[in-house]
Amino acid sequence: MKRILMTLFIISMLSGCNADKPVSQTIFAMDTVMEITAYTDTETLTEAINEINRLDSIWSASKKDSFVYKLNKDKTADADKDTLSLLNTEKEIFTISEGAFDPTVYPVVEEWGFISKDFHVPDEAVIQKLLKNVDFDKVTIQGNKVSLENKNASLDMGAAAKGYTSQKITDLFREKGVSSALVALGGNIQALGTKPDGSLWRIGIQDPDSEGYIGVVDVADKAVVTSGGYQRFFEENGVTYHHIINPKTGYPAGSGLVSATIVSSNGTKADCLSTAVFVMGLEKAAEMWQKSSDFAMILVDENKKIYVTEDIADNFTCETDFEIIRKEG
Ligand code: AMP
Ligand code: MG
Repeated sequence: MKRILMTLFIISMLSGCNADKPVSQTIFAMDTVMEITAYTDTETLTEAINEINRLDSIWSASKKDSFVYKLNKDKTADADKDTLSLLNTEKEIFTISEGAFDPTVYPVVEEWGFISKDFHVPDEAVIQKLLKNVDFDKVTIQGNKVSLENKNASLDMGAAAKGYTSQKITDLFREKGVSSALVALGGNIQALGTKPDGSLWRIGIQDPDSEGYIGVVDVADKAVVTSGGYQRFFEENGVTYHHIINPKTGYPAGSGLVSATIVSSNGTKADCLSTAVFVMGLEKAAEMWQKSSDFAMILVDENKKIYVTEDIADNFTCETDFEIIRKEG
């Protein structure tokens, strides 16, 4: 339902355009519904769809001929250019988030049932045992050979693949001379250029508690990526458990944030960072943002208070008050 609303929202933004009609296609890939809309020809759109399916087949953790499946099984595998580039950005965000973003948390995610959908709260002892395998520093890259030094480790690209893909697709469109497109991969949105009439793309930020939106951000040439516990969760004995795991504890992150949106011209970073920030919480995320210059944040805490970094505040519209996080000094 939320997806349908998001789709309607995006389409309503598109219908405000008075240029030539866009081409659009909806597919299911990377475990989510994707909608690509671009002011281009169907041939270029098909090329983009083929590229999404190609990246999905490399990074799927379950498809038996994927790079990730092979790496997890054999503990070593040869990576292609896209995988090396994705891993490098993941390493960067792992470092600046001080391990809040860590793709090797995958065995813990699996144990909670988020892959098989056989959801359950694991035994504490099992979590502790699995945590010993979690350390992205022990994933080594030599040339194009990727290895898991820890023989019980495995990883997934679930927190970053969609961001890399939206970046790749907008780059592909740009190279083909396309100047206006919207790539919506589940909760990952990336805008190419502006709408054809020159106005900014209007992206709704999902209300974590309802089908509506907490606000709208106006962007051009930016990725807008949201991580939130409301996106995937289960309930046991009246307690809700979501799919974003704190790699230090092995439990769903309880940082006080219910949603973390990153706005950045780098889609891959935006996706890694949204997951990282959701785990880190307001204070640590704000500290990380102070030291960076290539992303902005829109955060919602469990009291529904909204925090927006000053670099995006003028482009954010919302019916309630929000607090602005400013650069120090
Ligand atoms: P996202 O929706 O981009 O925040 O990614 C969430 C997905 O990333 C989960 O479904 C897991 O597959 C994986 N994941 C969960 N926790 C983490 C984490 N702390 N670091 C990296 N990946 C994670
Ligand atoms: Mg992410």
